[in-house]
Amino acid sequence: MRIGFIGLGVMGAPMARNLAAAGHELTVSLNRSDLPEGLAAQVVATPAEVARASEVVITMLPDTPDVERVLLGAGGVAEGIAQGALVIDMSSISPIATADFAAALREKGAGYLDAPVSGGEVGAKAASLTIMVGGPQAEFDRARPIFEALGKNITLVGEQNGAGQTCKIANQIVVALNIEAVAEALVFASKAGCDPAQVRQALLGGFASSRVLEVHGERMISRSFDPGFRIRLHQKDLGLALDSARALGVALPNTATAQQLFSACAAQGAADKDHSALVTALETLAHH
Ligand code: NAD
Repeated sequence: MRIGFIGLGVMGAPMARNLAAAGHELTVSLNRSDLPEGLAAQVVATPAEVARASEVVITMLPDTPDVERVLLGAGGVAEGIAQGALVIDMSSISPIATADFAAALREKGAGYLDAPVSGGEVGAKAASLTIMVGGPQAEFDRARPIFEALGKNITLVGEQNGAGQTCKIANQIVVALNIEAVAEALVFASKAGCDPAQVRQALLGGFASSRVLEVHGERMISRSFDPGFRIRLHQKDLGLALDSARALGVALPNTATAQQLFSACAAQGAADKDHSALVTALETLAHH
């Protein structure tokens, strides 16, 4: 397929490489950055030109305003998109704004899927991402070969646009609260005089075991806070959770607390560290 790809960062660059390796023809536009090493792609000046050259346009951008600018801004995808083309936004952004973006692209005769992912840089490189999709079944079926080149656990969550983003927010709530729980437990145990590495080892064998205890618990103990997934991106996702919950009239008390702790951690200088660095914010709350 002729695929346009916009947003060649930590996640987008390896995803684009996997699409090229699967035999797709890529067109990209860049934002003050160079073409990632080893990526075979035609480079054009604007997202509109990317859209003109492509049957499917994929975006993998940081936040909601970035996606809005690239899709609907001056020189954006909407200016160049062909009737019958498909836009797939794989960024983690607002489900509410997603419904608006989809409606604007549908007015141009294009299809739209929201398809955020979980699995991090490792999953992006290994083409083993979990992909959570919102949009019509027929568009999902059409995109399946693309998803299969990028990930393994691929789910159409709902036929309304925004369902994929809602699912990703649910994922981020579980991960954030898990990180917070592991951080609290390890700070508590070490302040009580136990070796946190031994505590983690013991817990891994029981009911408190989790991928977060395994991976992020290890990072907390070894103080390996290079991202990974940045504190500032997780802060953004918890903000999206609270915005959506407010619109729905749903209370998320522990998500709200976690969001405050992530903010405190960012304010203490860790915004671009891995989200396991949340433990450093909890340590500052403990008696020295
Ligand atoms: P990143 O900041 O590394 O990459 C974003 C890329 O978009 C950058 O290369 C930037 O130059 C580019 N960009 C921004 N505006 C652009 C424009 N107008 N035109 C062209 N390119 C533009 O971020 P990332 O870690 O790759 O994350 C991307 C999305 O995926 C985010 O929504 C994030 O929450 C989500 N996500 C990240 C991870 C992770 O582990 N890093 C995991 C799952 C989901």
